[in-house]
Amino acid sequence: MSERTEFEAGRPVVLRGGTVLPIDGGRTVLEHTDVLVTGDRIAAVGPGLEVPEGTAEIDASGGIVMPGMIDTHRHMWQTALRGYGADWTLTQYFVWFYLEHGKLFRPEDVHAGNTLAAIEAVDAGVTTVVDWSHGLRTVDHADAAVDALQSVPGRHVLAYGNIQQPPAEWTAAPEFRDFVSRRITGDDLLGFQLAFDVLGDPAFPEKPAFEVARELGAPVTTHAGVWGATSDDGIRLMYEHGFMTPETIYVHAASLSADSYHRIAATGGSISVSTESEQSAGQGYPPTWAVRAHGIPVSLSMDTSVWWSGDLFSAMRTTLGADRSREHLEAHAKGDTVTHCGLRADQVVEWATRGGARAIGRDDLGVIAEGKKADLVLIKNDRSPVSFPLLHPYGHVAFQAQRGDVHTVLVNGRVVKHEHELVGVDLAAARRQVERTVDYLRSEMGEEAWQQGMNPDIPATKILDNPYTYTDYRSDATHRL
Ligand SMILES: [Zn+2]
Repeated sequence: MSERTEFEAGRPVVLRGGTVLPIDGGRTVLEHTDVLVTGDRIAAVGPGLEVPEGTAEIDASGGIVMPGMIDTHRHMWQTALRGYGADWTLTQYFVWFYLEHGKLFRPEDVHAGNTLAAIEAVDAGVTTVVDWSHGLRTVDHADAAVDALQSVPGRHVLAYGNIQQPPAEWTAAPEFRDFVSRRITGDDLLGFQLAFDVLGDPAFPEKPAFEVARELGAPVTTHAGVWGATSDDGIRLMYEHGFMTPETIYVHAASLSADSYHRIAATGGSISVSTESEQSAGQGYPPTWAVRAHGIPVSLSMDTSVWWSGDLFSAMRTTLGADRSREHLEAHAKGDTVTHCGLRADQVVEWATRGGARAIGRDDLGVIAEGKKADLVLIKNDRSPVSFPLLHPYGHVAFQAQRGDVHTVLVNGRVVKHEHELVGVDLAAARRQVERTVDYLRSEMGEEAWQQGMNPDIPATKILDNPYTYTDYRSDATHRL
């Protein structure tokens, strides 16, 4: 395990001479700028800063310094099965996790997934993750989830959920209340939300769970606007019962009517867009092109590493692509041409940082300014031909950079990655844990079910009849005609 003595606790750190993206609400770029960190905060931002004696220096020249990225919706426990569902649809995901095999996960399996996901996040410059933890069948699973999150030097929000029980049941359990009082103790690195879905039953059976959330002061995060699962009915029920609040996070919101978007906008909530997920799982079209018109705040998320990577560079890139693609498509349907893109690179960088901070109610994150929390990322890779020229830094982050370019990461003022190496993280132990979980699940399921789960049937494709006949214009036969 890597331990770097130059970054011992309490020693100030300065990132020297980088291109700083402060994410201040404009498209500001600060060139040749230093960022000084003392304790857990940003102490100063500016050129040629005077720093306290003994400050550790990091050369940020040629690189981009940005706030740590924030993922507002990731099922971290599922990272234990990274990539297993690459060819799934949402239906296959529901059958596998909700109905058939999700119940197999033991507390140690949730621990394994969460540990690997948390390490993956800081490695990729994602300094805060909302762990949408809906595999908490028992409180022992929840303790394991939190143990794992607290074993990795990242910032997390535990969004407590349990897909095996209705939310009104698990939120009413005394052991759940006991867990909250034992484990949610105001640690700045561990926030808390409740995670459950509203299925649209007119009797609104989720109401008691919302009441528990209100009583605990915990925001609710909910998969809303998921084709075939949650719809406008869920939004309407939440609205009519007064449970739509500014801290509510609506995940996907991909198949909702304008009326639901109006309700979300009017009550101040935000939408967590998981573009890669929406594009291949089938919740609906990634909604940024629509919600931009409603002024609804957006954050980005990766959903689950059972399909996709936990990498917000991918989220920014695919979100720009999906939004612009839809804008062109809508215009073409009307015979028009889009001459100016509506969504800009700086906007998706803001969604990946400050947008996430806003969604989780943390105005001290997602921005680089004096007094804010020191969750920072340095993107710099001198060995990469993609690192220069650095002309449009927001565009560089959104379309050119990738996780391998994450040079240095700080969380709460602590250096957790430096010179492309994780600091204070035991990756080998995480690997052993995940291998045990994979072996266990595979043997419990049996080889046939394991293989079938990973390789769903491919629907029959018919090659269309073609009215044209192939003609080779270069052949003699053609010339003789
Ligand atoms: Zn999800």
